[in-house]
Amino acid sequence: MTAAPQTLLVTGGAGFIGSNLVRMLLAETDARVVNLDLLTYAGRLESLGVVQDHPRHEFVHGDIADAALVGELLRSRRPAAVLHLAAESHVDRSIEGPAPFITTNVLGTGALLNACLEYWSEAAAGERGRFRFLHVSTDEVYGSLTAAAAPFTETSRYDPSSPYAASKAGSDHLVRAFARTYGLPAIVTNASNNYGPYQFPEKLIPLMTLRALAGLPLPLYGDGLQVRDWLHVKDQCRALITVLRLGQPGGSYNIGAGAERTNRQVVESICQAVDGIVEGRRDGETKKLIRLVADRPGHDRRYAIDATRVRGLGWRPSESFEEGVSRTVRWYADNEAWVAAATRGFDLGRRAGLGPNSGAAPSASGG
Ligand code: NAD
Repeated sequence: MTAAPQTLLVTGGAGFIGSNLVRMLLAETDARVVNLDLLTYAGRLESLGVVQDHPRHEFVHGDIADAALVGELLRSRRPAAVLHLAAESHVDRSIEGPAPFITTNVLGTGALLNACLEYWSEAAAGERGRFRFLHVSTDEVYGSLTAAAAPFTETSRYDPSSPYAASKAGSDHLVRAFARTYGLPAIVTNASNNYGPYQFPEKLIPLMTLRALAGLPLPLYGDGLQVRDWLHVKDQCRALITVLRLGQPGGSYNIGAGAERTNRQVVESICQAVDGIVEGRRDGETKKLIRLVADRPGHDRRYAIDATRVRGLGWRPSESFEEGVSRTVRWYADNEAWVAAATRGFDLGRRAGLGPNSGAAPSASGG
């Protein structure tokens, strides 16, 4: 950020990446953070903890698609940037019901862009010059790689497989169109699978961690050999701040740590960490809970990121996957109150259509 304190509007700041980003912005910059979040099932005020009451943090409960609310927020708070994270984000949910994904990720992003364009067009020259719209998207827009293929670059062809990925691709195209057509200073980021604290426990790492801690079966989709390129959420947040500061308006940046692992390797790392945490659990015992189950339809085989461009801005990942996972498993074991609040009224067994409160295991994938 520049010397004068700025206001940043973060959307989806009560979600997994958003809450980690809001924390980092408050701790490492002098920015004021306006946090707009609808608090869907995935958004938790508990994820913000004491930061909720930070003097530079303002939480606003609302929808990115609410043009009147967003317009009023922009005109009154005058943010120097909008960091857009709000989304429906779970692939399996998008397969069960794509409508909310289209509503929030495509139409919601479109409404937010419209409001930003109006604000930016009417702003004074100085404000217009420094304004940025930072769009937070996923590598899933590129589709699937074969084992031997080179990692995704920013010029890889869009080829989304799931309704989630297609809705994010739609939002990326809208952001780029607003940059090209109207000159809105927007930047797109496409990151690989994130993991770390405060991730909703329907995603692979927290779900497997909680089940492993409880001694429940650990179901893996298909052969468990799908590959994801894992990125610690702190490295993602630091990359977003770097791109906000130094990224080229109209440009796009892939973010990844070069930590390709099969889903089986990921779950085995979790099992190893859990062996060391649960009293009386012998080395190698948790791994025996792994079960292969029917694959997800349209399941992408491999994602991998070429992060050369964002590295060119000086960003480097700081967390190794094995240490990051081990610390993440410990975090879930130590934060029972957050887990209880996040999963209240939520039946993890239902995720695989196993019926309410079935003790049976939901299947999971790395996104
Ligand atoms: P999340 O599901 O944990 O959080 C999403 C947040 O958005 C929640 O707090 C939710 O309440 C809020 N939200 C949803 N609809 C909204 C609306 N209409 N208006 C306002 N707020 C709304 O998601 P996440 O994992 O933190 O992902 C954040 C962003 O990063 C998403 O855009 C996602 O596509 C992208 N992304 C995620 C990953 C990953 O691995 N988690 C990787 C790459 C990119």
